[in-house]
Amino acid sequence: MGSLWYEDRLFIDGELVAAESARTYDNIDPATEAVVGHAADASPADMDRAIGAARRAFDSTSWSTDTELRVRCLRQLQDALERHKEQFRPAFVAEVGAPVTTTYMVQLDMPIAGISWVADLLAGYEFEHDLGENEVFGIRSRRTMRREATGVVAAITPWNYPMQINLAKVAPALAAGNTVVLKAAPDTPWTALLLGKLAAEETDLPPGVLNVISSSDHRIGAQLTTDRRVDLVSFTGSTATGRAIMAAGAPTVKRMFLELGGKSALVVLDDADVAAAAGTAAFQITSHAGQGCAITSRLLVPANRRDEIVDQVVATIRSIPYGDPTDPANLMGPLVSKVQRDRVLGYIERGRAEGATTVLGGGRPAHLPTGYYVEPTVFVDVEADHTIAQEEIFGPVLSVITYRDDDDAVRIANDSIYGLSGGVFGSPDRARAVANRIRTGTIGVNGGMYYGVDSPFGGYKQSGIGREMGVPGFEEYLQIKTVAVPA
Ligand code: NAD
Repeated sequence: MGSLWYEDRLFIDGELVAAESARTYDNIDPATEAVVGHAADASPADMDRAIGAARRAFDSTSWSTDTELRVRCLRQLQDALERHKEQFRPAFVAEVGAPVTTTYMVQLDMPIAGISWVADLLAGYEFEHDLGENEVFGIRSRRTMRREATGVVAAITPWNYPMQINLAKVAPALAAGNTVVLKAAPDTPWTALLLGKLAAEETDLPPGVLNVISSSDHRIGAQLTTDRRVDLVSFTGSTATGRAIMAAGAPTVKRMFLELGGKSALVVLDDADVAAAAGTAAFQITSHAGQGCAITSRLLVPANRRDEIVDQVVATIRSIPYGDPTDPANLMGPLVSKVQRDRVLGYIERGRAEGATTVLGGGRPAHLPTGYYVEPTVFVDVEADHTIAQEEIFGPVLSVITYRDDDDAVRIANDSIYGLSGGVFGSPDRARAVANRIRTGTIGVNGGMYYGVDSPFGGYKQSGIGREMGVPGFEEYLQIKTVAVPA
């Protein structure tokens, strides 16, 4: 593993640097439990320098107004990522534990390719709109609505889809003319530090425009939420952390853009294609070992067809190969860390204690004694108010809940503090009608996939505020100025 290609230095004010304290911390491969390398362990002083550099670059350079430079830098960043993607892929798999097969899709290749969509959007974007004339207090004026960069953006990201989420923030934030401090999740520093390396070595990004920080300490992220030089916090992570960030940002009235947790429902109507629904249910709960904010971790089935549907779901999950993420045959790998594995196992215990029954899995796989693996697990006899039906588990654990009729299914689906995603299977019109009644930011009908660089993604309720990706995901990073001149 000594041959992995990665970057361990911070990127501050245009330079790749060690942490001021010279400290590093271990990067652990969740599939082998081995230390595969290190990353700079930033201190408050490093973060302070990064924020200062971003502030200066925003306030005293033409970055925010030079659209041509921004388009060029985005394209350079994409080209650089494409050039080094194969070198980096093994390090990515080693730090994330994501099956290598998925890196050819949403984990790595798709987000990198998506930068060009952002660059194209920027190249054609109209920052000013004429609002026409009006007359107030006898003054006739012509008004213009102008969109401008917000300022210094703090991008704070989780470990589960690190390249996708880092780029879904950094690319539109830079495109909009902001300067950025990207704070990586402690478990996945290299994916972020690589962006810093390539920005430093292969783009014309002016110093301070992008800064990248890794640290083993969550408090380094908290610094971004209280510092008055930061204008906007763009955060993806748990709802608990989102609440803390909102509270921390209140004294400086920070703009908040929050992508938080989920407990999404997949509703199978009684006229659904059961095999197709079972395929989606099985794929979702095993994808990245259930470590997805938008996965459907609740399966809602009609009471009178429960056993037939559950049998198909269990049979489909059993057919999904899992284990070593470097093996292209495997579609599910380990959880990211021992902490996460133990957390998920704790939820499984809780499910049993509250009276639910496992019909598949329910522990650590005997054939994978090393690595942070959890068996794909299916619970039946789950009541809608059980902990495993309400809390985000973030592991391959599916809770099956029965319902009486469509209204009951909608009620149970909406009985959640979350509203991030979901799915419905059934005859097309009926499934669509049910989908429209579920309070959630994204939903797939009969297996439809909503994900795309041009599709807005985000949550209702406590799943977040704002939308990532698509045109709305770009405009989150802009603010609006109304300018009036005498007509
Ligand atoms: P987390 O909330 O523990 O941490 C996320 C990031 O926030 C990390 O970089 C962490 O260091 C930082 N952080 C922690 N405490 C902080 C604080 N007080 N102030 C500022 N920063 C702080 O989340 P996680 O465990 O890394 O990721 C899993 C969570 O992310 C799940 O809840 C999942 O649903 C959510 N998620 C949401 C989306 C989405 O788009 N809605 C996408 C992926 C993951």
